[in-house]
Amino acid sequence: MAAGSSHSGSQPAKLTIVRGFALQVNHSEWEELRTAGIVARARMKIDFSSTHRCFLLCAEESGGAIANIGHYCGFLPLAGDPTFFVRPVTLAMPNTVHADVSAASLVSIEMLRYGTTYTLNIFLHWLATSPGLDELPAHRQKLLFSANRGVLSQPLWQDGKTAQVGAYIPAFHRRTGDPLLIPPALHEAVGAITDAVCCVGCRKSHFLALKPIRLPGELSAPSIQTPIPRATVPRAASIEMLPTAQAGKNKKKRDRRRAKQRLARQEATDVALPNCPEAVADQSEVPALQEVTP
Ligand SMILES: [Zn+2]
Repeated sequence: MAAGSSHSGSQPAKLTIVRGFALQVNHSEWEELRTAGIVARARMKIDFSSTHRCFLLCAEESGGAIANIGHYCGFLPLAGDPTFFVRPVTLAMPNTVHADVSAASLVSIEMLRYGTTYTLNIFLHWLATSPGLDELPAHRQKLLFSANRGVLSQPLWQDGKTAQVGAYIPAFHRRTGDPLLIPPALHEAVGAITDAVCCVGCRKSHFLALKPIRLPGELSAPSIQTPIPRATVPRAASIEMLPTAQAGKNKKKRDRRRAKQRLARQEATDVALPNCPEAVADQSEVPALQEVTP
């Protein structure tokens, strides 16, 4: 997994790992997280998508909590990104990986809780335009919000998971007491991650049900390009497959209809009531049907 290396030929460049946006965790907190088995991966990879024919950012939503400490990192796409893909991971150990996420641009939301003190980092990530498939695009990031020593006195980890609905957000201030306001576009994500760092023995994603983020102009980045939507199934294959499946269905239907008609014909000849209008109707249909029957 060499970072930033380019490759010859038409082979897409190999993936690379992007770090450098993880929040600072001091040694004792790190030890406590390690002992508790809490794994929050604030990192992402750049990989090539053959479906969308472009490079994408791939990350893992992960983390969880014990009563004393919690650490979580989640990712959300920007609204209208056709490359967004999410896959829940349910077989992993609690407090570790909960989902695989990929998209052309992602917003990372990372939170660390120690007791009732919260640290939060939110970044927007995207890729610079790649000159070709054999050259890795550069990763770009922009800090959207960062604050530490946030306070939330409500002990959410004692309330049970049913009470966790993203209703609480820690209050962040500067040293001077001025409030640090979280942009409204990020409120839902911050509510979800506050739950996540209080979710003791976390077993599932806290971000799956969230809406993609719609950033206001001042928070967005001008160089983000929305990829062109591409069908996940190659067009040629889907066109070919559809009529075949339909034809199969039609054949079954036709066979069933013929069997019914044969049965009706037999009944009509068995009963043989030429004066009965129903029987006449049946008989009038029979010759026409016989032409179809092989
Ligand atoms: Zn959880």
